[in-house]
Amino acid sequence: MYQLWIDVRHPVRVLVGALGTVRFVAGTYVYTGRAARGLRARVRRHAFGARHLRWHIDYLLAQPGVRVRKVVLASENAADECRVNRRGAGRWIAVPRFGSSDCRAGCPGHLWQAKRRARGVSRG
Ligand SMILES: [Zn+2]
Repeated sequence: MYQLWIDVRHPVRVLVGALGTVRFVAGTYVYTGRAARGLRARVRRHAFGARHLRWHIDYLLAQPGVRVRKVVLASENAADECRVNRRGAGRWIAVPRFGSSDCRAGCPGHLWQAKRRARGVSRG
């Protein structure tokens, strides 16, 4: 399983499949995902762009001004996904239901807003 640290440089509204429109403030986000097979290919897809939008995260990463800053291979074990994901609870803000369609562990979402961009920094 892996975590993506994502920079959202300016606020975006994204139509994310069945979730509808999701608003993102500028800031840093952390996404936790897994790929039972083909982890390398999955991460490459996230970093360089997906041709077809399939997962929720694809929709966010397809936006201009949104990029993957860091990839962390958090565990070799895909089953750790939710346990690692929930480390965000209490310190970060969950994006409700984002990336957690197939989550059975009750995570609020698999994407967290980790840090809001400070006002006035890197504007434009
Ligand atoms: Zn989960």
